[in-house]
Amino acid sequence: MITVMKFGGTSVGSAEALKRVANIVANKEGEKVVVVSAMSGITNFLVSVVDNPMTDLDGILDQFAEKHLSTAAQLFEGETLEEFRTEFEARMTGLRAAIDADRDDPFYGDAVVSQGERFSSLLLAYVLRSMGHRSVALTSEDAGIVAVGQPLSGSADLLNTATGMTMKVKPLLSMGVIPIITGFYGVNAQKKPLTFGRGGSDYSAAVVANAIDADMLEIWTDVDGFMSADPRIIPDAVKIDEMNFGEAAELAYFGAKVLHPRTIEPVRLKHIPLKVKNSFRPDEPGTLIHHLRKSKNELLRSVAAKTDLSIITISSAEIAYRPAMVARIIEKIAEINVIIYSISTSLSTVAFLVHNNDVKMTLRQLNGLSGGDIERIDVKNNVALICAVGDNLLDKCGVSGDIFSAVKEAEANVEMISEGASDVSLNFVVPMNKVVEVVKILHDKYIGVIE
Ligand code: ASP
Ligand code: MG
Repeated sequence: MITVMKFGGTSVGSAEALKRVANIVANKEGEKVVVVSAMSGITNFLVSVVDNPMTDLDGILDQFAEKHLSTAAQLFEGETLEEFRTEFEARMTGLRAAIDADRDDPFYGDAVVSQGERFSSLLLAYVLRSMGHRSVALTSEDAGIVAVGQPLSGSADLLNTATGMTMKVKPLLSMGVIPIITGFYGVNAQKKPLTFGRGGSDYSAAVVANAIDADMLEIWTDVDGFMSADPRIIPDAVKIDEMNFGEAAELAYFGAKVLHPRTIEPVRLKHIPLKVKNSFRPDEPGTLIHHLRKSKNELLRSVAAKTDLSIITISSAEIAYRPAMVARIIEKIAEINVIIYSISTSLSTVAFLVHNNDVKMTLRQLNGLSGGDIERIDVKNNVALICAVGDNLLDKCGVSGDIFSAVKEAEANVEMISEGASDVSLNFVVPMNKVVEVVKILHDKYIGVIE
């Protein structure tokens, strides 16, 4: 039995947290591979180093070193601490070199922001050693994690990563060694670090689980699992015990910040179950995500909401008959990397759902469209996307009717709908001032209801 265990920034954020994590790892039966994020706050710090070249770099790096060294000194001593220091200094030299490198290199940012995980992984490996376990810290380079794609938004090359890890990591497991691997990045074809986007260590862990054919992926974070709704809106929201991959992917994407949305795919591909657990309350069962067969009784598993969005509606005569025009519009928006949460079309309009903060940029970009093709652009600010998730949604007749009658009860106007794009979620847009009411009514009516 191989388990991949991933610990986030707060779970490795202090000596106390690291000790707790080391105990969780040590108590796990069977073979285990650990993936870690940087200590909390560290990646943000590295991003600021990339964004604004520091005048007092030495002073700032001293603080960086001090944070890790003082944590180490609370966790182990003597020879272990000395050995740690030696490896630590080598990594500090690497960090300095990454910061001093050529800023014009397109992968400069990746090289710097990916440094934090090298230090947290070293700390955890040494805590485990000090407890008498065999453990090594492996960088993504050491482990053979291969990445492809653009700076700061890489994806893993699953096949090559599997080959690399089979050679470099698997043998350690059979020797009883616990590898602690850096999350967040892989190496590209030029052998340079390429990060998977902010919060990407969850995805790294799923990639590792896929590559070594793990039996289970555990994502250890600071909450008990996925909830049936945001508890700040719905005080009696309940924790979800289990759900399927599709439901988890939609929820992770649209609402809950429990898990990076990209975590699902690498494990789903290999049918590896995933558990979300709380490292501060390890005895809690968490949420299990797997190929769950449809539950008969519940209409909805969870209701999530994404707030602060805007609808941009582009009017142009008979646009539906001019797909090239639609393509050009989407291309223009893609150029600036704005996330489109939903699209809907009619004969003469195309409507896009984007974040409020992206509206200005998007409009500027659309102004650049040549020709007098666009008749009008309208913007409706301050709407929210409600995402009703459940694996019974498309099978049962009249489900949308039920859901929209709940919306009517809240006297909310539905501004946009996307149904059927995913077979586990019904997404629709309502004005921001109706969000709480709509979520409440849906939650009361359809979650946990046995028909
Ligand atoms: N340390 C990285 C970040 O903060 C990756 C992660 O935490 O998942 O974005
Ligand atoms: Mg982090």
